[in-house]
Formats: sequence, C-alpha cells, structure tokens
Amino acid sequence: MTAPTPAVRDRALSLPSSELPSYLYDLVALRSHAAAVRDALPERVEVYYAAKANPEPEILGALDPYVDGYEVSSGGELAHVAEAVPDRPLAFGGPGKTPDEITAALEHGVDRFHVESVHELGMLAELARRHVPGQRVAVLPRVNLAVPEGALTSSSLAMGGRPTPFGLDPARAGAVVRALSDGTYPQLALRGMHAHLASGLEAAEQLAVAESVVDWAMGLGVPLAEVNVGGGMHVDYTSPERRFDWTAYGRGLARLTAAHPGLTLRIEPGRALTAYCGWYATEVLDVKPSHGEEFAVVRGGTHHLRTPATKGHDQPCAVLPVDTWPHPWPRPAAEGERVTLAGQLCTPKDVLARRVPAPGLRAGDRVLFALAGAYAWNISHHDFLMHPRPGFHFLDTEADALPRADG
Ligand SMILES: *Cc1c(COP(=O)(O)O)cnc(C)c1O
Repeated sequence: MTAPTPAVRDRALSLPSSELPSYLYDLVALRSHAAAVRDALPERVEVYYAAKANPEPEILGALDPYVDGYEVSSGGELAHVAEAVPDRPLAFGGPGKTPDEITAALEHGVDRFHVESVHELGMLAELARRHVPGQRVAVLPRVNLAVPEGALTSSSLAMGGRPTPFGLDPARAGAVVRALSDGTYPQLALRGMHAHLASGLEAAEQLAVAESVVDWAMGLGVPLAEVNVGGGMHVDYTSPERRFDWTAYGRGLARLTAAHPGLTLRIEPGRALTAYCGWYATEVLDVKPSHGEEFAVVRGGTHHLRTPATKGHDQPCAVLPVDTWPHPWPRPAAEGERVTLAGQLCTPKDVLARRVPAPGLRAGDRVLFALAGAYAWNISHHDFLMHPRPGFHFLDTEADALPRADG
C-alpha cells in the first residue's frame, strides 16, 4: 500500500462518482521532487525533461524552474512543448524524423538535434542549408553503444549494444564524427555525443553507463562541448517510497565533470521526474469471487492506465474506504484478505493489480493508483470499448492557498 499526499487523498474522496476515474497530479509534490533532483546535481550537469513521459502543459510548466530544457521526439511534441513552455531550449531526438518535422524544428530554432543515422545527417544538412542559411545547427549524433558489463539488473531494459533502430552503430560513429569535423557538412556543428542506452537503472548502474559513454566519446579525439548520457533512471513500482538515489548519482557525476574540465554533461530523465506526482483515482463498482479468488471491478482500467499491462507489474495503490452506500440494493464486499483489481474492459488483460491486501473491500470504496504520473494516460489505448475519458485535476495547494486577485 502506498500513502497518497493529503491533497490527493482529499480530492479523491471529494469528487463525485460521476467524475471518476480521474487523474490527480500533485504539482506541489512534483515541484519539491524536481527541486531535490536539481539540488543533487552538480555544476555542468544539465537536465532536459523527456517530454514523452508526460507532456501535460501543467506538468511541463511546473518543471520549468528546475530543468534546463526539454527533449522532444516528434514534430507533435515539438509544437506542443514550444507552446506550453515558450522560449525554452529544446533538443529534438527520436528515430524516423521526417523532412517536415526537421524543417519545423529548424524554423523553430531548436537548440540541438540528436541525429539518429547517416541519412538523417545528410537530410538535416541540406534542410539547414535551405531553411536557415548561414546558421550552423548544433548536432549530437546518437550512438548505440554497448551497456557496460554488469550494469544491468533484471528490472532494466537495455536499448544499447544490441540490434535496435536507435542511433548509429558504433562502427559508423567514427566516420560520422570525421565528416562533422572535416567540413563535409558546413551547416552542422558537432556539439557532442548522445547516448540513451537503458531504462530502469539504479544510480550506480547509471554512473557506470555515464562513465563508459564519456570515456568512449573522449576517445574519439575531437573536441566535444557536451555529452548527453540519456535518461532511464529507475522507478521501483514494487516499493514506490524507494526513489532513485539522486544524491549518489550527483556525486558520481561531479567526479566525472571534475575529470573533464570544460565538458557539460546532460541527462534527460522522464519517468523518474514525473511518475511520483500522478495518481489515478477511481471507485469499486463490483466485487465477486471467481474460482477461489476475489475480484473488484473498478471504474476505468488499463485503457486509461496502461502502465501495469505494458510493464507486467501490479500498479501500487491505496484503498480509501467510503462508508456511505447511496443505492437501495445490497452492497457487495470481499470476504477474504486479497482482491484483484480489474478494469471495465472485456479482456482478461485489463488488470491493474493482483491480489492486493484489501480485506473487506466494498463496492463504493475508492482506490488510488500511485506512480501514474509518467507513461500512464498518454501511452494508453483510450478508445478501446468507448468508455468515457477520465477527468484531469492539477492540484496546486500552494497556489490555492494564495489570496485570489478577484477576491
Ligand atoms: C524515453 C527516452 C528518455 C527518457 O527515458 P525515461 O526512462 O523516461 O527516463 C530519454 N531519452 C531518450 C532518447 C528517450 O527515448
């Protein structure tokens, strides 16, 4: 079980049933978490938030004071982020950039391009010549390096060092760096290298990755102003209270920057910044036994919160008992200790959490699913079965506490 913040708990209990399910985002909690992350990081380490984790404008705005910029991975994200947080540095990454997307990014003036292939380099150079003549566009080739031996745990997902559509094969990187240094692409300026090699790494593993990426980049023998070592900081869905050790990570990055004066490191976390601030609030509709187990069906499901289905975990949750029962018919309740929480979809895959300790859980009780602030609503298949969309509430108790200008 997972304790919600008081603001989240109060809102989850005060919303009428007709407004459930709802996503509740605690912006105060988000700001204090982002401030702690920022404080843990040393000089010459920049943070770009990977917008794909959660691009809600309120989230982007709340992060604004604590990040140096945003990483966008499509023309859609580019336009959206540029509008939500205007005039902030953007890095444009992601595979399969189209000529139209690149042109839009050039015209917007994005700060950096993370270049994914040799073809993309040629396209970018030619589009830069046509659309921003006389400018030199900053590029960081993305390279698909091997994750260092021993850096991976069972919970992590490696993208690097194996066949993937992401970045350049390391065997090609040398030639690309030479072409960027010898005047082949006069429109482009080599700012540094980029690597995002795994997700779900603990601090020590992230540091091992960062060190190996920096060592490799320095070994190219060309001057580099920055190295982007990616995102993928671990979020532990089995114990939400145990967060990524930003302090240890920051100390390790400080050693790395001290060893390379003049080099700026960049990280681009998504999940580990925003997962904690989001909650999916719902209520139990039905409770029943089935072949020796008990099931509760809640309003909504994995078409709103797909994370447990995609990651194959139980979404951590908290039950909020509701003692009143407004209906004239009998109220169903669990007889045992453990209940599986399923959604309203007609598929056995629509399970949010299995065998949750919830003795006596009743229809009408409310459930808050935690860690729903990243890769939750925006990765879900909303239209499957045509249930209504959830509500969205951005809780900002600090701002709410301020006297309102209109009295
Ligand atoms: C998705 C992604 C990130 C963010 O990953 P998290 O696991 O959310 O921290 C960073 N960089 C790139 C290139 C990505 O594709």
